[in-house]
Amino acid sequence: MWGDRAGALLGELVAGSPDLRICLPTGSTPRPMYRAFADAGGSLSEATVYLLDEFGLPDGSPGRCDTMLEQDLLSLLPDPPGRLITWDTDAHDLAAMCEAMEADAARAPLDLAIVGIGANGHIGLNEPGTLVTDGARRVELDERTIESAAGYGAGPPPRWGVTFGFPTLMAAREVWLIATGGHKAEILRRALEGPVAGTVPASFLRRHPGLVVLADTDAAGALAGQSGTAT
Ligand code: PGA
Repeated sequence: MWGDRAGALLGELVAGSPDLRICLPTGSTPRPMYRAFADAGGSLSEATVYLLDEFGLPDGSPGRCDTMLEQDLLSLLPDPPGRLITWDTDAHDLAAMCEAMEADAARAPLDLAIVGIGANGHIGLNEPGTLVTDGARRVELDERTIESAAGYGAGPPPRWGVTFGFPTLMAAREVWLIATGGHKAEILRRALEGPVAGTVPASFLRRHPGLVVLADTDAAGALAGQSGTAT
């Protein structure tokens, strides 16, 4: 199972350097990986954890990324993370809050950034049209992102969000791009085999020397030369 293998890889990495600095995504893709990590006794009690992005929704909303991270991972662990850094979407000055997030993440290279790919090729909330130089910032959401976000929780879906940009992700020692399900196959193919361009922001990750793609059989199904084995 994809989740077991991805969770085991994460467990190995954290066991080898428990005080790692890590950026984590939320949504449906990482859930089985997080569960497997927790079930195997994984702990982030010495780690510094950055949340990849956040939706412009009221605090406590089920569809918020911090709520999902708590539910899907942190609540399953024996101890809280050593340090947890999340986004204050109520900040009076969002631009300053985003700058502070980026500066915090830049204090030392992240050891690992785990990112999912959106149906539209986004990474975090770096929507199509993103420049590789765009930093942490507030973004207006693409219609497809709003549709996906509507599935994360009841209530009106978000229209905007905040996200780390590619400068933060590209500075990480390693990036794991995770993708599961046949509905991600075509966008994963475009990200990995199409042009490197802001129309499919995930394609920028191919410039990262430490990119690791963790795809299940279905998501890998459209890749050239793939028999569908997870890589
Ligand atoms: P998903 O979202 O894991 O819920 O498919 C991925 C994303 O939109 O980044």
